[in-house]
Amino acid sequence: MDKCAWCGEKAEQLRSIKVGMDARRMENVHVCSDECESRIKGYYEFVKKNTYLFLAGILIPIFIGIILCAFKPSLGVFIMMASIGFVVIMFPFVTPQTSKKFGFKKASLIAKIFGFLCIVFGVFALIFIR
Ligand SMILES: [Zn+2]
Repeated sequence: MDKCAWCGEKAEQLRSIKVGMDARRMENVHVCSDECESRIKGYYEFVKKNTYLFLAGILIPIFIGIILCAFKPSLGVFIMMASIGFVVIMFPFVTPQTSKKFGFKKASLIAKIFGFLCIVFGVFALIFIR
């Protein structure tokens, strides 16, 4: 039995739909309901619109963080971890492998938890690194 690509539930009756970042990279996924279909399409739209913002949100803080590390390591690590955590929570994009394993819904939640842990780690770094 196949799993729904959005909610990860197993179902007897799954429908095949096409989703993708652009027309040349469409893939077939299976969904269990109208709701899961519209959610997964919405998710792809959201990823499509925000991919560059996501990448910039990851790369710019790493860049700034590395420079800051030379002067004040605790602040550098904090900026890096907290910004990455924040971006991951805002845009919980997951790899296709993760989403296949858990369904997008759970995979996004896992990404958000990861983002939260990054922020917590950043705060610890700010407090404990001298
Ligand atoms: Zn579903």
